[in-house]
Amino acid sequence: MNLLMHEEVVVRRGERTGIYVVVAIHSTALGPALGGARLWRYGALGDAIADALRLSEAMTYKAAAAGLDLGGGKAVLCAPPDRELQAAERRELMLDLGDVVESLEGRYVTAEDVGTGADDMAMVGKRTSHVVGKPVEDGGSGDPSPVTARGVEQAIRACCEHRFGSGDLIGRTVTVVGLGHVGRALAERLAAAGADLLVSDIDASKRASAERLGARWVDPTEATARECDVLAPCALGGTINPETIDGLRCVIVCGSANNVLASDDLADGLSERGILYAPDFIANAGGLINVYGELHDLGRDRLDELVDGIGDALRRVFDVAAARSVTPLEAARAVALERLEAASESGVAQAAAL
Ligand code: NAD
Repeated sequence: MNLLMHEEVVVRRGERTGIYVVVAIHSTALGPALGGARLWRYGALGDAIADALRLSEAMTYKAAAAGLDLGGGKAVLCAPPDRELQAAERRELMLDLGDVVESLEGRYVTAEDVGTGADDMAMVGKRTSHVVGKPVEDGGSGDPSPVTARGVEQAIRACCEHRFGSGDLIGRTVTVVGLGHVGRALAERLAAAGADLLVSDIDASKRASAERLGARWVDPTEATARECDVLAPCALGGTINPETIDGLRCVIVCGSANNVLASDDLADGLSERGILYAPDFIANAGGLINVYGELHDLGRDRLDELVDGIGDALRRVFDVAAARSVTPLEAARAVALERLEAASESGVAQAAAL
């Protein structure tokens, strides 16, 4: 089997809403394909399918590199191009999604993503049991952000250890870009660990809460160019791009944002500048681990153990990168692929033995 190709792609118009629901299952080699449902406006159905294919593949790498027994999948819901979804139609769309997920008989498990939330997942749960990320009152794991922040802190410590010989954060200067759900929780953790914090957000109303943490406020246009030990992008993707890369004055880039690099070749650019990059899908795996815990009913201690394992996963990636003279991004993909190959080979061996 070609491990880089998708196993299954479903495109179905919702029975109730007529809205297209796309589910892409990239891999189930390690377990059910888990990935959120994105509600987004696409120019054409083909764009939605392309997005589902790309995002589901990324989920395979994320789960494999984090050592989880999960595959990669993603759902995409094509929001109407010309109007906002009304509450009743949104609920019906979630029921439509639930039907599609149920028809896949557990090969795909859905969750919240951009444009959807825990309440939507509660609605999906009326049609299928293959859903996580539900509200706490519905038996779900609730907001994953604090868990994601815990994992990013572990990743930052592993980076500091690799670069400075110690994971101690006392006196380390960290610039947190984006004081949202994860950024805020991360900033609190870093402040408690004794880091010297710089904080930035395009929403200036966040300044007061940043200063209450003892952080220095930085204008968002200058954030990536401020001198610091660690730049922690926790906003949207593309913080490292052709315009910002030359101005960087950090030693490490490690944050929660997905797609921190506007394109993969920037990983080479960071290495050439001597900047250590923690691949985003390793550093921000806490959110996925959180819903994995919900899926398997893991207790708090086991969940914390898995999240703290993000530091070890990153150490392994840095070792592989050094041994093979490749970037950490390339090494992280190789580590994930090796796990998939091993799972696939043992699957073939088991089938042959039957
Ligand atoms: P959020 O929307 O709560 O926060 C994002 C913050 O970034 C907002 O405060 C926004 O004002 C700010 N922002 C946007 N553009 C900015 C810019 N150019 N400069 C400075 N600030 C800017 O989102 P979140 O849930 O905290 O997620 C943050 C990132 O982490 C996203 O990329 C998300 O995909 C990723 N992520 C989140 C989780 C999770 O558990 N929430 C898990 C994995 C990955």
